[in-house]
Amino acid sequence: MRIGVVGAGYVGLVAGTCLADGGNHVMLVDKDERKIRMLEEGEVPIYEPGLAEIIQRNAKAGRLTFTTDLAQAVRESLVMFIGVGTPPAADGSADLSAIFAVAEAIADAMDGYRIVVMKSTVPVGTHRAIREHMAARTPHPFDYVSNPEFLKEGAAIDDFMRPDRVIIGADNPAVVEIMKEIYAPFMRTRERILVMDPASAEMSKYAANALLATKISFMNEMSGLCDRLGADVEMVRRGIGSDARIGPAFLFPGVGYGGSCFPKDVQALMSMGQDAEYPMSITEAVHAVNQRQRRRFAEGVLRYYGDGCRGRVLAVWGLAFKARTDDVREAPAIDCIRMFLDQGIRVRAHDPEALETTRAVLGDTIELFEDGYAALDGADALVIFTDWQEFRTPDFTMIKERLNQPVIFDGRNLYEHATLARMGIEYHCIGRRAASK
Ligand code: NAD
Repeated sequence: MRIGVVGAGYVGLVAGTCLADGGNHVMLVDKDERKIRMLEEGEVPIYEPGLAEIIQRNAKAGRLTFTTDLAQAVRESLVMFIGVGTPPAADGSADLSAIFAVAEAIADAMDGYRIVVMKSTVPVGTHRAIREHMAARTPHPFDYVSNPEFLKEGAAIDDFMRPDRVIIGADNPAVVEIMKEIYAPFMRTRERILVMDPASAEMSKYAANALLATKISFMNEMSGLCDRLGADVEMVRRGIGSDARIGPAFLFPGVGYGGSCFPKDVQALMSMGQDAEYPMSITEAVHAVNQRQRRRFAEGVLRYYGDGCRGRVLAVWGLAFKARTDDVREAPAIDCIRMFLDQGIRVRAHDPEALETTRAVLGDTIELFEDGYAALDGADALVIFTDWQEFRTPDFTMIKERLNQPVIFDGRNLYEHATLARMGIEYHCIGRRAASK
């Protein structure tokens, strides 16, 4: 099948590449000329494990091409996937300007029937608005499918190739069959396609992200109470995660969720509730707890130094909002580093993949290091924000030698108190004060 994918970001690039790998001819469109030039030259503009190899393979086979010319992609494709960003507007609602710009451009370029598939996360009811908007601009017939994406950065290829489910929100049974055909290569072990109406498909995406965010905020809230009442949140996590009704996933306390999805989708859901005059009380609390959690962690570090913050140096490991990505959008590390800088603290930071993306946000206000141990030199403590695998079993002797004082503030609970106590390293983490006793 001939498919156009608009938006060569984390979703569009992965979806387009995987669809090409499934045997389709995919034209990937982005308005960012730099991204398209990089892709044409065999480079990958984002870090996503395994992606580069599949892009190269499919580009070489002629199934994956790149362009800034959206109209050309529309002319040459039956199905147009939209995967552009839906960032938060100032009031927290989803900013749909890019979605509408693309829908308009598709409508204007149509020379016959097309299927428009929405992969971006859009508020409930957007399907109606887009349909009306396009129908007013083109005389040609089209179908609209809401097909929200559930991939996780860092495991995106596997998630797309072996999805837990694919949701198809469509009214026309003929189009559902075409969508099933497109996803057939990824359904070989068993069919995991759920067909529903477009509004329910749109809502399913927000509901999934809000529930996952709820689990995280719930555990983060528990961690604070554990600290105060002398319980160990790690024990509590095991205690409840072993209950089959609860399950072990997404129960890790830390510095709070970040990234380009949870924070904005939680806020967009709150905004949808406000518009519908139906306050989303749980979701609002999830957001508030998340904001408090990152602030609480940074304040803990600042409190430790009291009046002596100015002139301190902190080493930071982990800038990306989670491991296995270079994405620093809404990353707790960035907010906390800003709080440190505001207090006159200098920051020497390392991340295995997110140095460039961090530089784009923080400029030269902090020093960035390719080597995590080099970032420790002359620092008063190490602060950890991201659970990269390589931070899990570091060389503690080297950490102790290179830091001015052997102190670690761990926003991901990567280590055991007993191990660090043996090494003579002072260790502060989340919700585990009891474990140090
Ligand atoms: P992104 O910012 O990484 O990529 C969006 C791309 O769209 C950019 O390359 C941008 O240049 C391009 N673009 C914007 N306007 C355009 C236009 N008019 N024409 C052509 N290209 C245009 O965004 P993303 O992280 O891939 O997210 C895209 C959507 O998917 C969002 O709605 C997001 O909520 C959703 N989503 C993201 C993830 C994730 O993990 N990142 C997962 C599931 C769903």
